[in-house]
Amino acid sequence: MADCLFCRIIAGEIPADVVAETESALAFRDVNPQAPLHVLVVPRAHVANAAELADTDPATVAELVRVARQVAVDAGYENYRTVFNTGEEAGQSVFHAHLHVLAGRRLAWPPG
Ligand code: AMP
Repeated sequence: MADCLFCRIIAGEIPADVVAETESALAFRDVNPQAPLHVLVVPRAHVANAAELADTDPATVAELVRVARQVAVDAGYENYRTVFNTGEEAGQSVFHAHLHVLAGRRLAWPPG
């Protein structure tokens, strides 16, 4: 999608600090990190959110989770948080599915 920020990152039109990639997923650092490690793992194909991805391509949901684990482990973290925000009220601001990976500090629960 031409007007989708993450599609433009995937296409290489907007620079990103890529930390991992597979055939179906790309992982890059969040520009506004909320923890020492804060990476977004996104499907290469455009879908609005994780549930839509589960409906259309469940294997890629699993791939995002595996890439998230790899990113955390490669950075030296066994403990990490993964988050899919779905919908504006839940904090979603970019409507291309993405899995947040956060690690490197004690993370409070529940989130704000
Ligand atoms: P969400 O609010 O769950 O939709 O997450 C979107 C995330 O994208 C936020 O944490 C932003 O900081 C992050 N973000 C926005 N623009 C960029 C960008 N150009 N490169 C990397 N991360 C970005």
